[in-house]
Order: sequence, then structure tokens, then C-alpha cells
Amino acid sequence: MRQLIRDVPDFPEPGVVFKDITPLLADHAAFTEVVSALADAGRDADGTVVVDKVAGMEARGFILAAPVALALGTGFVPVRKAGKLPGATHAVSYALEYGEATLEVHRDSIDPGDRVLLVDDVLATGGTADATRRLVELCGGTVHAFAVLMELSFLSGRDAIDGLPLHSLQTV
Ligand code: IMP
Repeated sequence: MRQLIRDVPDFPEPGVVFKDITPLLADHAAFTEVVSALADAGRDADGTVVVDKVAGMEARGFILAAPVALALGTGFVPVRKAGKLPGATHAVSYALEYGEATLEVHRDSIDPGDRVLLVDDVLATGGTADATRRLVELCGGTVHAFAVLMELSFLSGRDAIDGLPLHSLQTV
């Protein structure tokens, strides 16, 4: 699987090595295997589904989280960048290296008491995952776990998500 994730130096800016998952998405067997492994984060040891919703973060998180939701038999919740969702939202802002980003979720997309699985492609600094957890909690839900294709351990995102159970298929 690792050879299907391509390192792209100096993208989107000089000094960054971008992990490009598009070769993996284009491979049916690898994509199927990844979706199945990510979905396992939403089941207990007996295989019982223990989440009510799967949330994916814009934009690559959508590609993985939607099939994970179908695999688990739950609904899918898009977590979007500011200004993209038409209905009433909760919003959480978080610091980037330069500046700030804001993520939003529709208030009615997660019910109070819902257990939510977060799914994204890459865990880097953890800012996106931590902001998404806060959005779920603003809706009255709880985050069951965070399932991610690849953890960039040198950016210490695991520390930023503060004890949230992390299911990472690969660590670099
Ligand atoms: P974080 O908020 O710093 O943990 O960054 C994670 C978010 O940035 C995720 O939504 C990823 O999709 C995106 N991201 C960061 N680095 C990469 C990368 O190398 N490849 C693909 N996405 C990345």
C-alpha cells in the first residue's frame, strides 16, 4: 500500500513533502482494503458497529469517510471549510503555522448522544482533527475514534488530539 502513496516534494509550498493518495484511490483493491481497515475503527472486538455517524474532513477526508459510512451502515457528515454549508452551522477556528482556519458542521447533522467516527487521509499537526472533535461536541455528540490512512509522526499530531483513540493504517 505504501508504494501507492506518492511523496511530492515542495507541494503546496517549498519545504513540504506532500503525501499524494491519488494512486491508491485509483487502485480498486487498495482502495477497498483501506476503506475496510478504516471502518474497523467503528466496530468493537466482536465486529459490532459502535458508531452512529462517520464524519469526514474536507476535502480528501470525504473520499474515505463516505465509503466507510456505507460499510458501517451509518450516515456521513461532511466537515467543511468556512462558508460552504448552506444551513445553520457550528464553527471552530484553529491556528495554522501562518494564520487561522475555520471548519464548520451543520448543527442538525449530528444528534445529541451520537457516537461519531472521524475519518481523514493524513494526520499532520492534529489541528484539523482537534477542531472536528470540538464541532462534534458542540452538536452534543462524542467522538469514538479518529481513523486515518497516514500519521506523520514527526509533526506530533497524536499529542494535539489529547487522548482521542487513533487508528492509523500507516505511520511515517
Ligand atoms: P493537520 O491539521 O495539520 O493535522 O493536517 C491534516 C489535514 O491536512 C488533513 O485534512 C489532510 O488532508 C491535510 N494534509 C496535511 N498534510 C498532508 C499531506 O501531506 N497530504 C495530504 N493531505 C495533507
